[in-house]
Amino acid sequence: MSFDVEKIRSAFPLLRENPTLVYLDSAATAQKPQCVIDAVCNFYAKHNANIHRGLYRLSQQATADFERARERVAAFLNARESRECVFTRGATEAINLVAASWGGANLCAGDEILLTEMEHHANIVPWQLVAGRTGAKIVVAPMRDDGSLDVPALKNLISEKTKIVGVTQTSNALGTVNPVKEICAAAHAAGALTLVDAAQSAAHFVLDVQDIACDFLVFSGHKVCGPTGIGALYARAEILEKMPPYQGGGDMIETVDFAGTTFRGIPGRFEAGTPNIAGAIGLGAALDYVSALRPQAQAHEEALLAYATKKIRAELPELRIFGTAEKKASVISFHLGEIHPSDVGMLLDTFGVAVRVGHHCAMPLMKRLGITGTVRASFAFYNTFEEADRFVGALKKVREMF
Ligand code: PMP
Repeated sequence: MSFDVEKIRSAFPLLRENPTLVYLDSAATAQKPQCVIDAVCNFYAKHNANIHRGLYRLSQQATADFERARERVAAFLNARESRECVFTRGATEAINLVAASWGGANLCAGDEILLTEMEHHANIVPWQLVAGRTGAKIVVAPMRDDGSLDVPALKNLISEKTKIVGVTQTSNALGTVNPVKEICAAAHAAGALTLVDAAQSAAHFVLDVQDIACDFLVFSGHKVCGPTGIGALYARAEILEKMPPYQGGGDMIETVDFAGTTFRGIPGRFEAGTPNIAGAIGLGAALDYVSALRPQAQAHEEALLAYATKKIRAELPELRIFGTAEKKASVISFHLGEIHPSDVGMLLDTFGVAVRVGHHCAMPLMKRLGITGTVRASFAFYNTFEEADRFVGALKKVREMF
């Protein structure tokens, strides 16, 4: 079946209404299709009520819709059961939850948390916070010059001291795709747990937590065409059941007494307070939408990446691409000659091309490459080959200005 990009674009109001915009910043956040916008609007317009606490039908319906969204998350990740999926504000909050709750309860002085040099700050800083509290130490697996992870070196760093290995499946700054299944197997062989940051991969690849065999996996809804402020933590039930609460408040308790409080089972124990109900329902719609487009969407993104990379190499020899690993998602991170990335970004905007510039929340990765930032163009399944041409054409015009 051929992939009809124009038909897909017509389902995205923002793209439809801005036909001259070349949106190449989907790694920061993806655009939203009408079905997601409708799911959120319908909830507020027709079904709005708080969940879990109401005896009336409207509230029971909202509860059912929220829990159905959880089932969609579980199906999207191929989790064994939906209670292994906790709604969070996004990948960042999910990692903070694991670091604070699991890390706070299980890490001691001398223990090691193994991360990689290409992690997003969201998979570094929460671990630094818990390391500071527990005396655990962060160990960092190196990246090669081409932006690929040095997997043998990572495996050599795993020891009986390693308590958890946290690794991104796809680098947001370079697009590198890491062999997370292999890494999880090596970590487990040494008795360590594993956390996979799927914030970037959820938008591009089919995720399967049972196949990866990870203990934790996190992603954000807004990068998968869903709303902002909603995402999920997947955690193996037997681990989640032993984790202490992350935040306290309403909805996560069984009974409260000043003499002591008892907590709900999983996943409710980790969802204190009124959650982002509309966001969860919108996320459910988004996951259904992107799932239905695969695997053609992935093939289209791969073709776009290959096309744009080839065209750049042929027509802009002074453009230096950072991240040339063999397995890459549809991200091109680069310098255009000696022109400052911020200048490139601002000038591309004047030609209607939206890209991101800076350190991409990956300052250690930038330091490793000896730079302070890049220009990053990230392609989604709704981008076209014509947009890739306009992007390269705009880059040529920027080059001529210097
Ligand atoms: N990890 C990676 C690899 C990311 O790209 C991002 C978002 N840029 C995050 C974590 C954090 O996601 P969020 O800001 O949606 O919580």
